Formats: sequence, structure tokens, C-alpha cells
Amino acid sequence: MRQQAPAHDLLAPLHPPTRYLFGPGPTMVDPRVYDALSKPIVGHLDPYFIQVMQDVQEALKIVYGAQEASILVISGTGSAGMEAAVANFVEPGTKFAVFANGYFSDRLTEMAKRNGANVVRFEKPWGEVFSDAEAEDFIRRERPNVVGYVHAETSTGALQAGRAICAAAHDAGALVIADCVTSLGGLPVEFDKTGMDIAYSCTQKGLSCPPGLSPLAISGRAMEWLRGRTTPSRSWYLDIKLIHDYSTVSHRYHHTAPISMFYALREALLVIAEEGIEKRWERHRRSHNFFVREIEAMGLRMHVPAANRIPTLNTVSVPSGVDDGKVRKRLMDGPGIEIAGGFGPLAGKVFRIGLMGPLATEENVKFFLSEFGKALRAEGYSI
Ligand SMILES: *Cc1c(COP(=O)(O)O)cnc(C)c1O
Repeated sequence: MRQQAPAHDLLAPLHPPTRYLFGPGPTMVDPRVYDALSKPIVGHLDPYFIQVMQDVQEALKIVYGAQEASILVISGTGSAGMEAAVANFVEPGTKFAVFANGYFSDRLTEMAKRNGANVVRFEKPWGEVFSDAEAEDFIRRERPNVVGYVHAETSTGALQAGRAICAAAHDAGALVIADCVTSLGGLPVEFDKTGMDIAYSCTQKGLSCPPGLSPLAISGRAMEWLRGRTTPSRSWYLDIKLIHDYSTVSHRYHHTAPISMFYALREALLVIAEEGIEKRWERHRRSHNFFVREIEAMGLRMHVPAANRIPTLNTVSVPSGVDDGKVRKRLMDGPGIEIAGGFGPLAGKVFRIGLMGPLATEENVKFFLSEFGKALRAEGYSI
């Protein structure tokens, strides 16, 4: 006779296990943000809610370094922000130039193709970045309408500088889409200074909020281009003209905004403002430096050269002879620590370790490394 698996009790109360989220996201959430999620909702056209949206937009200007930009918050995760950027600024036949050095630039490529773009790619191995001269050459040669790059490539741990890309793109008359999903909140994005035109991010990485919203920054040039666009965006739900009208102009219904998530984001931004954004960046930078020193003292190697590392997302090379999946399982089954492995060309080759938000302190790094060391030793690595 076949044995029945014990029935899972659907009536049991929800009781999520305790986890330490040292992965690439989602990251740890401040208890104040959880409190905000439980506040009573109001309507999505209620003046109280409109004010909450405006507060969020104002606070995001500081975090983005985007005083000159329009800020919109998309109801959806980081990928919804990516899709909004592409669907609004790419038309059938648009020439879209992508700096391709990781998984998320591939996703950007796929979305652009689905929107009818003619995509040209400058490819590099995962973990490398593009120099200023290489970026300028590529853009001068291709003369695209839109350029896309990933500021902090979560799949590799590499940070791509954007100034030369943006300057060359503007010389060529192109707009620049920058993926800032893993950078926003943990390191300077400098939207205005860099010259980005459209940047998108998410709530669950550097902003230490649950997943569910995607903050966008849009330059004056990009808004002007959009006003002149004659074909409608292929996405109605992510149509930036319609969302901009709802959230900042007429406040007429477009879709029912997820009220509780806006409460949470407002509180998360308040937590950031109280610490001070520059202090927060500095705290992330210090924890990263400490982490790298200790990792190297353990005889381990970082995958990305020092000059190009993302301070919030560390890729550590898996030592030879060690099965990264088994190390991750030990961390999860024992202390309840979540980290991620590599994928694509980096499958089995790197650990991806996030130090974001509340976890970016020396004390938490010490806690993590002590457990990480134990798991590595148990899998045969001698430190
Ligand atoms: C996580 C991530 C995304 C996608 O965000 P989701 O919230 O998972 O939809 C896009 N780009 C980068 C660089 C990311 O790290």
C-alpha cells in the first residue's frame, strides 16, 4: 500500500521561521516597517493616501540623488519597474544598446526585444565592467536611441560606473535606462550627477522593505520625449503617462494602489532619513570593507576586483573541492541564514552574500562569518 504523506494543516496559524536574510534580497525589514503594514487602509484616492504618495516621492528624491527628476512608484517588484522603463521608452524599431555583463542585462534585452526593439549588445564575461573608453566607442559606433545598463549587477557583484555611458548617450541623442535595483538605498546612485534618464529600483533590497513596489526616477528630457511619443505604450498597466497623471497630476483613478505597501515604504524611508542617507551609505561601505578583510583572512577570494565591487552584494569564489549548495543548506538548516549561489556562467562558482540594511554592521558580519566558516569547514575546507 502506498503511504500517505501526513496532511499539512491548512488551519494552523501562520508561523514563518526565523531567517537571517544575508542573500541578494529580500533583505531584513525593520520592525517599524512591519508595524506600518498593519495600519488600517484608506482609499487609493483619499487625500491622506495622496499625501503618503507625495511623501514617498519627496523622500525618494534624496535617496536617488534626483532633485531634478520626476519620481513615480510602480505597483510591482523591480522587474515591473524594468518593464515600465522598457515599455514606455522603447517603440517598435527603436535601436536599443545594452551593456551585457550579467543576468539582469539579459532580462533587459529580452524585454526590449518583446517591445519590438532592434537590440545591439556589448558583451563581457560575468563579473567584468565596461571602461569609459569602451562605453564611448560602443555608443559612438552604434548610435542607438536608447542605452541600457545595470548599475549594480546582482548576479555577478560588479558595479558599473555610469557617467561616461550617460555622456556618450546624450551626445548621440539617446536616453539612458539604468537598473538601480540593488544599489538604491545602500550606495550612492547620483541620478542627476550621473545623467541617468530613467532609473528603476525595488523596495526589498537596499531600502529594507518587503517586496512589492518599484520606485522610478525619470529625467526632464525623458518626460519630454514621452510627451512627444505618439504610439501608445504596449503596456496599459505600466503606462507612465497614466500613472504620472494618477499619482502627481489629476489623482484620477488608474489602478488601486497597494496602500499598505506605500505605508511600509514611507516608514522604511523615514528609518533611512533618521539615520541620514550619507551615514547609511558609509555604514554599508564600512561593513563591506570589514567583510572583505575577514574573507581574505580566511583564505577566500572575492570574484570581482576591488575597484568594481558592489558594497551591498558580495560575490565570494567557492573554494575548489567545496559544494556550494551543501554549504548553503547547512547555513539554512542550522542558524537559518539565507545566502544565494551563482547561476548561469557562475553556477557553483560563487556565493552571493548581501549586507544590506540592518545587517550591514560589523557585529552582524562577525555573526555571519563565524557560521559561514563552520559550514565551510564541515564541507571540507580548511581555513
Ligand atoms: C532583483 C533585481 C531585479 C528584479 O527585481 P524583482 O524585485 O525581483 O522583480 C532587477 N535587476 C536587478 C539588478 C536585481 O538585482
